[in-house]
Amino acid sequence: MKCIYPLLFLTVTSLFAQQTETVDFLRIHAVVEPEPATESVSGILEITFKMLTETDSIYLDAHKMQVRNVKAENTSLSTTEDKIWMVGDFQKDNTYTASFNFMATPKQTLYFTRDQIWTQGQGKYTSHWLPSLDDMNDKIEFDLSIKAPIDKTVISNGDLMGKNEFDGKRVWKYDMPNPMASYLVALAIGNFEKNVQNSKRDILLETYYPVGEDQKAEPTYRYTAEIFNFLEREIGVDYPWQNYKQVPVRDFLYAGMENTTATIFSEAFLVDSIGFNDRNYVNVNAHELAHQWFGNLVTETEGTHHWLQEGFATFYALLAEQEIFGEDYYYWQLYNSAEQLKALSDEGKGEKLVNPNASSLTFYQKGAWALHILREKIGVEAFRQSVKQYLEKYAFQNVTTEDFLEEVRSITQEDISQWEKDWLFQSAFQSEQAYQSLLKSPFMNRYFEIAALRETPLAEKKEQIQQALTLPNDYIGQEAVQQLYGEPFSETEPLLQQAMESNNLYVRQTVAMIMEEIPVSFLQEYETLLEDDSYLTKEIALQTLWMNFTDKRKEYLDRLNGIIGFQDRNVEQLWLALALLTDGYSKLQKATFKNRLQGFTSSVYSFEVRQKAFEYINQLQLYNDEVIGNLINAAVHHNWRFRTFARDLLTEILKNPGTKNAVYKNFDSFSEEEKAYLNRLNVKG
Ligand SMILES: [Zn+2]
Repeated sequence: MKCIYPLLFLTVTSLFAQQTETVDFLRIHAVVEPEPATESVSGILEITFKMLTETDSIYLDAHKMQVRNVKAENTSLSTTEDKIWMVGDFQKDNTYTASFNFMATPKQTLYFTRDQIWTQGQGKYTSHWLPSLDDMNDKIEFDLSIKAPIDKTVISNGDLMGKNEFDGKRVWKYDMPNPMASYLVALAIGNFEKNVQNSKRDILLETYYPVGEDQKAEPTYRYTAEIFNFLEREIGVDYPWQNYKQVPVRDFLYAGMENTTATIFSEAFLVDSIGFNDRNYVNVNAHELAHQWFGNLVTETEGTHHWLQEGFATFYALLAEQEIFGEDYYYWQLYNSAEQLKALSDEGKGEKLVNPNASSLTFYQKGAWALHILREKIGVEAFRQSVKQYLEKYAFQNVTTEDFLEEVRSITQEDISQWEKDWLFQSAFQSEQAYQSLLKSPFMNRYFEIAALRETPLAEKKEQIQQALTLPNDYIGQEAVQQLYGEPFSETEPLLQQAMESNNLYVRQTVAMIMEEIPVSFLQEYETLLEDDSYLTKEIALQTLWMNFTDKRKEYLDRLNGIIGFQDRNVEQLWLALALLTDGYSKLQKATFKNRLQGFTSSVYSFEVRQKAFEYINQLQLYNDEVIGNLINAAVHHNWRFRTFARDLLTEILKNPGTKNAVYKNFDSFSEEEKAYLNRLNVKG
């Protein structure tokens, strides 16, 4: 008996792998209605498929779905744990349609976060909320209509053809004329407003933002049209879809996801004009847009070729950023990723680019490096032509590394075989080649000269540091200031003064970072950092000044009162934590501050806000029943990073018998999921 199982398994897998040779799914038309109250989804789906061979059964991937109202001629439908099987007498070259109602309560892929609903298909499988194909190799034309409450905005793939009211709800009808892989199907529902502009070639660019966040719309989406026009020009192939929409959502799993025509990204990238200086959406904006060609128009056949998506998107985003921020920026990013790749490689953990299980660092950064070196080797024109030819030849199809290489070889006279060995098939990072390439940048040469002084005694390098701080370049200036760390103030004072007077935001920020003690003679100068247009600088300066000058604590707090900071409210939360420890506020005021900080742990706020609040509450030991309840809720959050953070903290505080008793006492108030988690921790009601 024993030998039957492996055999059976083999037959089944090979049968599954071959479905793309049996049938071509052409079109899925679906009306979808997510239901927040039950976190479920229901809908009607119509599928059209063409047979490539004769067979009696085909399937759609569909996780734990109930199906009813089947309408299909001479075809019967049945469901298994993760599939919908269609059984009939399917003849080669014939086209069939089937329609049915479906219902599911997805545990992943479709997420309900307070007043938003959104999807993440890649890595999570669209088939959890919409019958589709987990295999990337059969591309389908998806036309989705989404039913949502009247007051919500709905974003999905393709063109919005119209909105109809129905049953007190609104149906948003979207249409895609071209096929795509199922992992790129998406929807986002929420309270959004949008700005609209046209690209140079008149493609509609829609940039969504949460209602009430108008002041963040421009800084968040700054350079959107420039990036779009640049990528079309640089890639040399017209943007392949009808329009381009971007929408930020709460508690997203990653930085962004390049759903076809409808990128969804993390709300943490929403910034105002000050926040823009510290962290901005430009890189992710360009990266997800580049995927509309690399990933969406041409799609990897399997994980081995994942760099064709991530390496290309990373590289083209870097080219777009070079266009905006200049060549120094371009080389600086390459240098930073080279440092990380070299460190990984030196540890013996380097990975081949064509390793399907490689890390993100390899797929993204080593992929970008490989393309940078290839472009240098064969020249910009040959590179551009190869990419253009590759995209045009395989448009709306699937690709392998070899497909790309063939196009390169057909264009260039250069022998690229050594490049292939070094950059695609070698696990070690080619740091010497990378270094030689970086040296082509005059800026990198100057940077390396300054960085080489790290071990040199200050007395012997003062002149070079001084030079580096004269009209400083962002990166060289920061390096120069960093080298003053730990040196006696009597020696560094004129240099620090010079750094401050440079008025370079990033050089000044480095001064804020390296100074732990502020000599009185430098106080007035240091205090000006509180006014810098950087939430990071403000946060560091406030904390350092508060630590150093006990009698001026309230004065500093008053100066930054009302400033929120990034989306995680970094300045405001630090302010509240410090104010609680500061003399000069009344008991009542402090009670309000405490309440506010504790309130930030609630699921009303995004996980970024909550995580920061838990950190301060833990430092100050401000736990109460409400905060502990919020922490238990966080321990079952869908975002694994936040969930892991919450679980670690919860385990820690449950060591305290008082906390454990509080959890005991309130056990009945927790949700089933929370109770189940507590039971796993052996905290039983
Ligand atoms: Zn990507």
